[in-house]
Amino acid sequence: MPAPIIQVALPSPLRRLFDYRGPAGVRAEHLPIGARVRVPFGNRQLVGLIAGIAEHSSVPAGKLKQAAELLDHQSLLPDSLWQLCRWTASYYQHGLGDTLSSALPVLLRQGEPALARQDMLWQLLPGAYPEHPAISRAPKQKQAVQTLAMHPHGLSHALLSQWGLTRDALESLERKGLVQRITQSPHHSNEPRPLLREPALQPNDEQQAALDRIIAAEGFQCWLLEGVTGSGKTEVYLQAIEHCLKRQRQALVLIPEIGLTPQTMERFRRRFNVPVVILHSGLNDRERLDAWIAARDGEASIVIGTRSAIFTPLARPGLIIVDEEHDLSYKQQDGLRYNARDLAVYRGHLEQVGVILGSATPSFESLHNVQRGRYQLLRLTQRAGNAQPPRFQSLDIRSRPLEGGMSRPLIQLMGEHLRQGNQVLVFINRRGFAPTLMCHDCGWMAECRRCDARMTLHQFPPQLHCHHCGSQRPVDRTCPSCQGEQLRPVGAGTERTEEHLISCFPDFPVLRIDRDTMGRKQAMQEMLARIHSGEPCVLVGTQMLAKGHHFPDVTLVAILDADGGLFSADFRGPERMAQQIIQVAGRAGRASKPGQVIIQTHMAEHPLLLDLVEHDYARFAERELAARQQAGLPPYSFTALLRAEANDLAQTDAFLDGAVELADGLLARHRIQGLELLGPVPSPMERRAGRYRAQLLILATQRSALHQLLHLLLVELEQQPQARRVRWSIDVDPMDM
Ligand code: ADP
Ligand code: ZN
Ligand code: ZN
Repeated sequence: MPAPIIQVALPSPLRRLFDYRGPAGVRAEHLPIGARVRVPFGNRQLVGLIAGIAEHSSVPAGKLKQAAELLDHQSLLPDSLWQLCRWTASYYQHGLGDTLSSALPVLLRQGEPALARQDMLWQLLPGAYPEHPAISRAPKQKQAVQTLAMHPHGLSHALLSQWGLTRDALESLERKGLVQRITQSPHHSNEPRPLLREPALQPNDEQQAALDRIIAAEGFQCWLLEGVTGSGKTEVYLQAIEHCLKRQRQALVLIPEIGLTPQTMERFRRRFNVPVVILHSGLNDRERLDAWIAARDGEASIVIGTRSAIFTPLARPGLIIVDEEHDLSYKQQDGLRYNARDLAVYRGHLEQVGVILGSATPSFESLHNVQRGRYQLLRLTQRAGNAQPPRFQSLDIRSRPLEGGMSRPLIQLMGEHLRQGNQVLVFINRRGFAPTLMCHDCGWMAECRRCDARMTLHQFPPQLHCHHCGSQRPVDRTCPSCQGEQLRPVGAGTERTEEHLISCFPDFPVLRIDRDTMGRKQAMQEMLARIHSGEPCVLVGTQMLAKGHHFPDVTLVAILDADGGLFSADFRGPERMAQQIIQVAGRAGRASKPGQVIIQTHMAEHPLLLDLVEHDYARFAERELAARQQAGLPPYSFTALLRAEANDLAQTDAFLDGAVELADGLLARHRIQGLELLGPVPSPMERRAGRYRAQLLILATQRSALHQLLHLLLVELEQQPQARRVRWSIDVDPMDM
């Protein structure tokens, strides 16, 4: 009997499976769906997953190749995760093989066994304690003893790195007779141990009401936890997790890229007496795989990570939390363009567990889902403890001179706060010295030679940088257009604001926090330590300052320019602006000191700004959502964006025009209603890094109609000869257009 035919999902941009004969001598019943196989592909070998078994193949029998090796005896992934990946591939119109390779740790993609390296645990021997004389001069060993003391039943080898311990330190301790290796599994110990390392805070009424609803629910349920900054959302997460752990279930926590600070990790580890794995960018491939296995096998009780952690398998799922659910870092911007927040909700549904989406400034998508009754709203309207909410004011800067982006009254106010011994935070979302360099004689502006964008002027060292393609060049001495010598920086970036602040406040430190000053790994830690010392100072920075941090001594937050968001070409501009303002403002007045927020604007009477200043985010969102509904924009409609780029304009045009023609044909043939094709049009930045970019927006009143079209369209589009001459992609639910 010939070997059965297997359909293999391989890492390839093609949206299809590849047929092979099963490995020699392996019968169909020993070829589980979801197991990995190694197969020949062109002149190399690839690792793929078995996605199906078939009797026949459209590949002629003589051409059908045979798989070289079966790598797993069972599916690599629990069924629900396999389903999640299949759904992701289909929803985002991406090949299954490529989807799986985005979802799996690198080592598994390379064929590494999916087994924990050792089932071995390290355990402290009686008589070992941190002050033991044998380790008085070995800080690493001392730390290991301290950590093992918190794990009386042993700490697994796989989790060592998660606790910052090294194998060397443990082996030294073993030689000194202070630790031993044991092999029994920690789950088999019958000795109960306390779940909490530190007691939970006493919830306030609003926190309690939220927790009551979360704890009472069974099966799938999605809550939007809308809580003003500092209202104690994290405490709600912690107590919801506690309940989940009591039921012997695991919790998965997603946090935004910039939110994965040591403080956050610390907060989870300090509370619970259970293994916590944190998937952060500092892990090497082996550590990442160990963490993945610890989660899949149920050894890790809490899994915390950024976007891609949504694909971590769990043996006993119980709760999924997405913190700062509005954050853009949940949306992957290339390759598999998924949104981890949305996948979290789908996964909750698959696994029949609760999902908490938390934010002070919920995305309009989530607010809309509350309106439609799909999510339940839980609100925390008060700051926890004694903290007062900040006071918002707009500062009309029409016809006021600006220096370093700041008006005179603002500088005065900052001086008052500083002299009272407080800290001041200045937010400007542009790094560099000035957004561009202009000739005073003829109006020439420094532009990037490879992009449709201005060059940003940087001062140390003096250079022009393009923030879009990364190219750099020396600052022009004379105008390339009129040879004039009056080249001047226009507008302000963080460097220029910093410079002006230093000249205004020579007696106070000015700390700049942006991507240019925070390059070193330790830089942020050092800066945070300085800020937390409480000395009066001015912080100036970009959105790096805006997220996650608590600055209890900041009493004044200044937002230098709110206008960009109000007249941005992207319909999401106002939403983003409001989220940014509220998030930055949330850094102020967290302790007992009340905070003040000043928004400089030329449009103080703009209704959206008034809503924000005089009311709150909810009021702002209500008005803006009504406008979206009127205009038929998301979240009241559904979109996909077909993007193309090439060295030559004619090729993007040919490809996208061809796509419109195909789509029109399919819409007519399949009688699909309620769809609109907008474009093709040049992308907002038509030329970037030397390549031309254009796009076609597909807008639909029904999600199902959109998907029906995309499904049919992409199969045909892939076959088009023009498709090979451009780089193209499809983005379902795009977040930037
Ligand atoms: P959020 O996540 O909503 O920004 P946090 O959970 O970080 O808020 O809470 C803000 C501060 O309030 C923290 O210092 C936290 O310890 C404190 N806090 C939270 N809940 C309570 C409570 N119930 N009682 C006292 N303090 C609390
Ligand atoms: Zn000139
Ligand atoms: Zn450029």
